Order: sequence, then structure tokens, then C-alpha cells
Amino acid sequence: MEIAGLPIPPDLAASYARRGITELYPPQAACVEAGLFSGKNLLISIPTASGKTLVAEMAMHHQVARGGKCLYIVPLRALASEKFQEFSGKGLRIGIATGDFDRRDDYLGRNDIIVATSEKVDSLLRNRTPWLADITLLVVDEAHLIDDPSRGATLEMVITKLRHRNPDMQIIGLSATIGNPADLAGWLDAELIESDWRPVDLREGVFFQDSIQFADRVRQIERKSKYEDLDLVLDTVAEGGQCLVFVSSRKNAEAFAKRAASGLKLANPVLAGYADRIRSNAATDMGKTLAACVAQGAAFHHAGLSREERQIVEAGFREGEIKVIASTPTLAAGLNLPARRVIIRDYLRFSAGEGMLPIPVREYRQMAGRAGRPHLDPYGEAVLIAKSEEMVEELFDCYIEAPAEDVRSRCANEAVLCTHILSLIATGFARERDEVLGFMDGTFYAHQGESQRALSRVVHRVLEFLREAEMITEVGDWLEPTEYGSLVSRLYIDPRSAEVIVTAMADQKDYTDIGLLHLLCSTPDMPTLFVRRDDMYLLDRFLADHRDDLWMEIPWDADEEFDRSLKTALLLADWVNEIGEDEICRRYNVGPGDVYGMVESVAWLVHASRHLAGLFAPHLVRPIEEMELRTKHGIKKELLPLIRLRGIGRVRARRLFDNGIDSIEALRAAGQEKVSRILGQGIAAQVFEQLDGVREEIQEISEEQSTLSRFG
Ligand code: ADP
Repeated sequence: MEIAGLPIPPDLAASYARRGITELYPPQAACVEAGLFSGKNLLISIPTASGKTLVAEMAMHHQVARGGKCLYIVPLRALASEKFQEFSGKGLRIGIATGDFDRRDDYLGRNDIIVATSEKVDSLLRNRTPWLADITLLVVDEAHLIDDPSRGATLEMVITKLRHRNPDMQIIGLSATIGNPADLAGWLDAELIESDWRPVDLREGVFFQDSIQFADRVRQIERKSKYEDLDLVLDTVAEGGQCLVFVSSRKNAEAFAKRAASGLKLANPVLAGYADRIRSNAATDMGKTLAACVAQGAAFHHAGLSREERQIVEAGFREGEIKVIASTPTLAAGLNLPARRVIIRDYLRFSAGEGMLPIPVREYRQMAGRAGRPHLDPYGEAVLIAKSEEMVEELFDCYIEAPAEDVRSRCANEAVLCTHILSLIATGFARERDEVLGFMDGTFYAHQGESQRALSRVVHRVLEFLREAEMITEVGDWLEPTEYGSLVSRLYIDPRSAEVIVTAMADQKDYTDIGLLHLLCSTPDMPTLFVRRDDMYLLDRFLADHRDDLWMEIPWDADEEFDRSLKTALLLADWVNEIGEDEICRRYNVGPGDVYGMVESVAWLVHASRHLAGLFAPHLVRPIEEMELRTKHGIKKELLPLIRLRGIGRVRARRLFDNGIDSIEALRAAGQEKVSRILGQGIAAQVFEQLDGVREEIQEISEEQSTLSRFG
């Protein structure tokens, strides 16, 4: 099917033609035939890189040309920016929404396409964002993630709410291969487009000793080193290809990258340039190891990397200079980096409480699907490594020939439902018990056969919890949110977290930093760090000196959860006490990416707790407000007056302070010349430009920081 004949704007067709895209791939043509341009709902379940995004993009342009507005939901923030870039520059106004959760972001409504994470859409719904009512096309990328244990329920609820609100809206679900696509399609009232067609031929096989066995052939691999997995990499590189290697842990990823680097021993000015950039920013040993590997053409990739490190590695691989990346499987979903050969070295992964478990077939497919770059590789190869002869057969059965798992609704979890049912009531979606039940009837959970009786029992228990927590009131069947309930819903935190925070705060006379941080790290909304035996010394030493500063009770017996939350709180306390990033990484055995992840999560909870304090513990509002800025910037209290200036971050503020300049008045008194000597001329000029208007500026910042200021 020719693109020129499709009902899409000529500019879009021209932009495709410039990239050599003139004809639809067969599954794309099937989408058009199934009603893509006549408003039909579609569930497109085809392999990675078979052109799903392009189908969605054409539909969005078609809608906008007819006066519509589109919402494109992605599972990860990183994917939101990737899609934002992909859709930009083609004649439409594109917006991206991933930020703070208590804003309505009305300005976003001016765009034709809004790319957002499901959490952000959920929060926009809770804050009654008006432009959501104008959405005429909803695209759900990675729709199979409705099955994700931690975030699937939010995606399901968001889809249900949007459909409830805009019943005529077209829906396009993009999904990896799943076991029960008809089930998901049935829920969405969608035509199912299912295909295993791929633009590049994919060969899947199992490597054992010195050969890869494919279903229809065997390929010998030359022994060049003492490591089989390295030989597989060297073989691909010798043929001009690149490799992605999936291993079970960060440590393994780093170890494999080192091995690959010493096997490849590449050296050229481009690689040296990447390595220099990584080294010059590297605050940790991990960064230095990465630089050394990259200099020789290999890299590792996991959530501990800083954003810059990740960007350099990804760009270096795309440009073909870095030949191999060793990665943890959790990154398979977000990593859009095709390679000639994908090696799945470890198919067991550690799962807390359950030990080592085999990865699901769906994840295997997602990794294998990265093999073969369209237009660049003649074929792609996905290779599993067997540790014994018998395993060859087993790996064929369990992965290569196995059907993908079914997706199941995650709404069966009552704790999860609590959050969502509160938001239904708080936003007026449901005002009576029957309306809550009616809404639940539209979920995938109900579609998958949950009985009315079971649903009604769960809803009953959830309403009971919310009523006891005084987040809702119930008169007869009539449900009303309380001020507290509405606030919790808008703050986008788990009602159980709100209960933990409010209960602890109400008892506190005195504020302490660690008391607050540890409290927030004890809520279900906060991810916490794994505790090793070595960490116990740090925790015990803290408790010996500062146990009275904690707001939460210290358990008599060893309690893993308590240890985890305390360790995490200590890391955050170090962050706001300006301990260097490298020292934090060393002390807690984490990477810079983890530190930022923790800071981001807790910053949101600090923000939420400030608003909760406004209702229940007004004496704590002021110190929590200071902590909000301190967490955001990683600074001690004494730098607060300086941090409010644009261009001044934690490092520059510290430099000023150490030179005796500790306030706006002191800046004025010091004069631009002295400040230039400390910060350089450009920054000093920028700072002094702001000084005249500084009063208004502080005002503006604090208003921006408190969108819910009437509670604060
Ligand atoms: P998916 O979303 O399924 O992973 P994409 O839509 O991102 O796949 O497409 C993968 C690559 O193939 C992109 O570079 C895209 O531009 C290209 N592509 C998509 N459709 C076609 C087509 N009909 N002809 C040629 N290339 C295409």
C-alpha cells in the first residue's frame, strides 16, 4: 500500500518520503484496512520495530487535520522525550507532560499532540484538566504494560477514566506480542491486528560450546578467547555488526563490559573523545570504569548511570563506534538500540523474596526483538547461551518456541484500588457506591471475568478504609470527599502513605530533618535501598547517637523494612548536607542515577507532606518548606537565600558562602567585581541583573512551589 494514497497531510507524507518511507509494511496496511482512518479502535500487537509508532503518527495527523486532539501515553519518562522528538518538526504542535503531579498544565492543551506518562495523565485527570475532554484520539504505547505489577493498574484506570469521559474517542493500543491479545482487544472494543512480520529477518538460536543452533541451521563460532560469551561478541564485530548483551545484574553488566573491552581493544579518537567526556564528569569509580571500557569500544548500561553517561553510551552505539553494550534486562523495554546480534546471557533474575527466577517469555521477546537494524543489517540474531547440552532443547521450548504470557489486570490489589477509588470520588467521577461499581465494570479487571459479587466486596472494603481514614464521608449511598481526601488525591500519593505521614506528624512537637526523611522513606510510595551486612555498622552508629531524632518507632527486633528506610533516609540526609556525590555512591553502594531517582521520589513526598502539614500540623509547614528546596538542590539550610537566584545551584551557592557571601544583602554589599572573581563574569552579571527585581522573584518562586498554597 502506497503512502501517497493515504488520507494524511501532504507534509507528513513528504517527510516520510524524504526518509525513504513510501510504502506501508504489511501489518501497517492491515491497520489501514481495519479502519485506522475511519475512527475504529485498534489493538496492534506486532513485533518491535515493525512500524507501530508510524501507524499511530499517521492516525494522529489525520485526526488533527479534522480538528481533533491526541494524547499519546508512554510508560516511561525517557520514552516520552524520545517520542516528543520523533513527532516534532512535522507541522504539528507537540507537548510533553511528565512533570509535577499536582498541576493542571492548562497550557499543554494548546498542543495538537500531548505525550505523557500514565501517572501524569492520571494526575491531570485528578486535577480536572479541562483539555482532556477535547481528546479525540488516545494512543497507548506498550499497552501490554497494563500487566506491570507496579504501574499497570494506573494505566488501566487512566484508560477506563478517559473512555468514561470521552466515549467517542478513538483508541489505538500498541502492544508487544502477548498471549491473549483478543482479550485486551475485546476490552478496548478494538479490531485486533496481530502479526509476526518483521522488517529484518530474525534468527533465534541457542549457543553451546562453539556453535549456535538455529531451528534450521548451525553456525560455528571461532574460539578466540577463553570466554564463550566474549567469542560471540568478537564474532559479530569481526563481521561488522554490534552486540547487545543482557545479563542478570549491574555487577555482571560491568564485569562483562570490562571483559569485552579487553577482548576488543579498539582505540580511535572518537572513542577517546567519549571516554574523556565520561571521565571529566565522572564523580564515581563506576564512571571511571565506564570511561575505560568505552575507550576500547565496550560499555555497560543500567539504572545506576547518570543521564549524561547514558546519553554518551547510547549515542556512541547508534553511531556504530561502541560495538557492545552489556545491560540489565530491566532496561530492555526502554532501550531503543537495535543491534545485529542480541545475546541473552542470563535468563535468571533476582527477585526479592523469591530468589532467582527465569525471565518471562515476553521479556525475552522484547530483548530478542532488538536484533537487526532495518536497512543496515542483513538479518538479526538473538542468541541464548546454554550452560549444558540438555539446556539447548529446554531453551528452545521455554523461550524461542514458547507462546508469550497472557496479560492480567493488576486491579485485584486492594491497596492499589484504594488510590484510584479515592480519586474517582474526589474528582466527582463517582458520587455513589453504584457509580463506583459502574465505573469498575468498565475496567479490564471486570472484563477478565471478575464476578459482580467479588467486585462489590472489594469496593466495600476500600470504601471502609477511606471512610475510617476520614478521606471520604458516606451518608446513605452518597459519597463525598473530605478536604483531606481531596488533597491526597491531588497530591498523587497513596492514601496509605498519607495516613503514615499524618499520623506521625500529628505527634511531633519538634522538627528534625532525619525524622521527616525517615518518615517519608517508611511510606509505600518511597522506593528503598537494599541493605547489606556492611551497612549495619552505619545504621547502628546512627541509632546509637541519634535515635531520639526519629519520628517513627524503632522496632525491638531486626526488621528489614525499617533498616531499608533508615538507610535510604541517611543517604538523603547526606544529600541535603552537601556530601559529595562520589562519597554518597561509595557509602551506600549505589550509582549517581540511583541517587537522583531517590531524590526525585522523596522531593515529591516532601512536597506532599508540606501540604498535609498545612491541614494537620501547621507548626511543621515552615521547616518542611525549607526541606523541599533543600532536597531539590541538595543543600544545607544556610544556602537557602542564595539558591533562589537563577543560575545559582548547589556548587556556586557553596562557593559564594565559603567566600563570606551568605545572603542577597551580602551579595549587594560585595559588589559585582568581587562576585565576578568568585563565579566568573557571565554568571556574576546574570546574578546582579536579578538583584533589583529579587523581591518579586522570590515571591514568584514560592508561589510556583506551592500550587496548592491555600492549604499551606
Ligand atoms: P515500532 O514502534 O513498532 O518499534 P517504528 O514505528 O518506530 O516501530 O519503526 C521502526 C523503524 O522503521 C523506524 O525507523 C521507522 O521510521 C521505520 N519504518 C516504519 N514504517 C516503515 C515503512 N513502511 N517503510 C520503511 N521504514 C519504516
